[in-house]
Amino acid sequence: MSRGRVLIVGGGIAGLSLAASLSRAGIACEIVERAPAWAPIGAGIVMSVNAMSVLRRLEIADEVAERGHRLGAGGITDHNGRQLAGSDFELLSHDHGPTIAIHRAELHEALLGAASGVPVTLGQSIEKLSQNDAGVDVQFTHGKSDRFDLVVGADGLRSVVRESILGDVPPVYSGYTCWRFVVRSPASEIEMREMWGRGQRFGIVRIDDARLYCFAVANAPRGTEDPEPGRLARLRERFAGFGGQVPAILAALDEDVPLIHNDLEEIPRIPWVEGRVVLVGDAAHAMTPNMGLGAAMALEDSAVLADELAKPGELADRLAAHVERRTSRVRWVQDQSRRIGRVGQLENPILCALRNTVARLTPDSAAAGALKRLAKQPI
Ligand SMILES: Cc1cc2nc3c(=O)[nH]c(=O)nc-3n(C[C@H](O)[C@H](O)[C@H](O)COP(=O)(O)OP(=O)(O)OC[C@H]3O[C@@H](n4cnc5c(N)ncnc54)[C@H](O)[C@@H]3O)c2cc1C
Repeated sequence: MSRGRVLIVGGGIAGLSLAASLSRAGIACEIVERAPAWAPIGAGIVMSVNAMSVLRRLEIADEVAERGHRLGAGGITDHNGRQLAGSDFELLSHDHGPTIAIHRAELHEALLGAASGVPVTLGQSIEKLSQNDAGVDVQFTHGKSDRFDLVVGADGLRSVVRESILGDVPPVYSGYTCWRFVVRSPASEIEMREMWGRGQRFGIVRIDDARLYCFAVANAPRGTEDPEPGRLARLRERFAGFGGQVPAILAALDEDVPLIHNDLEEIPRIPWVEGRVVLVGDAAHAMTPNMGLGAAMALEDSAVLADELAKPGELADRLAAHVERRTSRVRWVQDQSRRIGRVGQLENPILCALRNTVARLTPDSAAAGALKRLAKQPI
């Protein structure tokens, strides 16, 4: 059955990958993206084995692997760099393919290439949605209006599509805030490392031969201000207690390096479908990044939604099948991620010592075990 016209709101990882999958399935779609231009965005990102498997379907896995860095070994250490638990990505790659770390801007370029046949209107959003059995009427921010058979909210954590169908759904604050940056660093033995301190973590991920992506996480009240002027000095001070490579990385930063700062939040359990409107990616289920799988879930959503829409049958049945296929997997990842974050952000010195001992005695990190499980289950 023809799916008619699909409007995708948001040209991020979920929106672009969905556009690429739909156009491959011969389903007409278009994207509206709020940003006035595609700008180099974000810091780094890890494409786990299940994310890479969707990128393979879109025929951009090789490009992503070439532009990024294939991760070998990773692990968790204490705040001084002493190993607590390991994650062997090479071992995982034997059965499930590589794990790739890449600059977000380069992942975005690869996705744009995969969706190149799909019309995109930049600098535009939606003002209002109303739907009946026959379609969804969309009023755009620039005054134009149009009718679609299906509207997909791929517009991230603060989704306006979600608000239009469910009203206000406030994101839930994790209790910790995060800084991210990319720093030049020649090849070294560091592949991927997450260092656990007391109420603080520091992550280091190689994204190519010349650069590392780093993240620094700290417990803080919601909405703690960290204005750009002086941000670097405050970051250095806050993480001065960390050893290993951290002092050298922080010293190598200069004022020109963008330091992205935001609170880490998630979207509580909500329905993902309302009539002819469906939410995917962070708009539906933003999660804490402790497992590094939010984008993987967004990519999987897109692959499954396109797969269901390409099948014959009523739209409502296909959307219900999409939700059925996605719910338990996404919820499990969201819950695991939150649990790992709670442990990683412990502050009490006795509990931290206990945590580190348990981590040292456990053969694989919790995240590595979860990745294996996900890789084994097809979407
Ligand atoms: C610190 C951190 C580290 C992370 N690391 C990883 C990782 O290593 N691996 C991983 O898999 N995931 C990771 N994630 C999660 C990942 O970043 C997200 O899950 C992913 O970006 C979600 O993609 P999305 O397309 O759903 O949303 P977004 O990336 O938020 O994209 C939404 C798009 O919609 C546009 N938009 C927003 N509002 C509107 C509007 N009103 N109208 C039109 N367009 C709109 C935005 O401009 C944007 O282009 C991390 C997240 C954080 C916070």
